[in-house]
Amino acid sequence: MGLTIIISKPHLRTWFTSLDQICGTVVFTNKRPVNVANIVVYVEGHLRTSTKSHNVHQEIPFSAYEHALFCRRSIVFQSNDNPTGKSCTLFAPGTHIYQFNLGMPLFTCCCTSQSMNNRHIQSTLPPSFELVSESLKISVSYRIRAVVDRPGLLRCNLTSTRAVEFRPLPPPDLGSLQRPRYLKVTKDLGDQILEQKEDNATGERNPPPYDTAILFEVSIPESRIIRVGDRLDLGITVFVPHKLRKALATIWLESLAIRLRSTTMITVECATRAHIGYLDLCKTQGLLPLEFSNACERFEVPSELWRNHVYPLILPSFASCGIQRQYALEIAAGFFSPTTNKVYTVRTSVDVAVKNADFCAETPPEYTVEEGR
Ligand SMILES: [Zn+2]
Repeated sequence: MGLTIIISKPHLRTWFTSLDQICGTVVFTNKRPVNVANIVVYVEGHLRTSTKSHNVHQEIPFSAYEHALFCRRSIVFQSNDNPTGKSCTLFAPGTHIYQFNLGMPLFTCCCTSQSMNNRHIQSTLPPSFELVSESLKISVSYRIRAVVDRPGLLRCNLTSTRAVEFRPLPPPDLGSLQRPRYLKVTKDLGDQILEQKEDNATGERNPPPYDTAILFEVSIPESRIIRVGDRLDLGITVFVPHKLRKALATIWLESLAIRLRSTTMITVECATRAHIGYLDLCKTQGLLPLEFSNACERFEVPSELWRNHVYPLILPSFASCGIQRQYALEIAAGFFSPTTNKVYTVRTSVDVAVKNADFCAETPPEYTVEEGR
């Protein structure tokens, strides 16, 4: 006996998205006569996690956990006189082929299986993905499953599964037509300059005390939405008070790194585990003088350094069924002062949402793999 699932490919994509129809055939072959009650095909999504704790004194370790995100089914064969599921049809030896057509939902549908105080809110289905770290394993997977139901106590049902990749449809983009307004996040290097001041015992030449310190400002579109395939749209400005500039003489931008920090969190019965990953978007090293005109205290870091870099295809931000994926854009810069012979580093970050662009019409590139930490 054999059971095979063949999924037809109506488009170039190798994956499916929300509301897609998954069509195909189920091929059942038998060499001997077999009694069959019915043949059912399912499309289903699962979330699986497992953790291992290296330290026994750590918080309660939560072991393996499996959760059904949704399940839809289609009966492709049902024995004629089988309203109760007890009777069956005798299949003569041969090959039996059945078509199926199942629709991918837009949202999770697990509410019925949850107790009242642990009920999940219906939300957009998460994309297929797998995350494996030393202590945590998370996978969201989708599959087609066919079952030949054979009645009788000693007869095993015949089951076959086939994995499908799922990427959710990005939510409608209502703000993209408006001209973006920018949000500013600032960070000052005050503490580092002050630390230098206290370092007088070493006899090093340090800048005198100041009211204001170097200010590092990053501006990003106010929507804080990052779209896969878009160029990095941000502005970086450095403010150096006139007095400090005079004391330090020259300041150089020594390094600049822009990266995305992803946080994947899983919550199972009040226990939360998180995994942090990083993806470098742009990294430059070298000395770039900060040239200020006399009247101005601000220096705009030239956007040529990053504007030709694009956001690669990564998992979108999502939150459903106790699993969340969040992003932050991190910008780190190093400033070098030959006067003090020191590098002052500053780092700032801003929470962003990653949306996949409208990628449905073409064959997509592979997801970019990030570095886990
Ligand atoms: Zn759920």
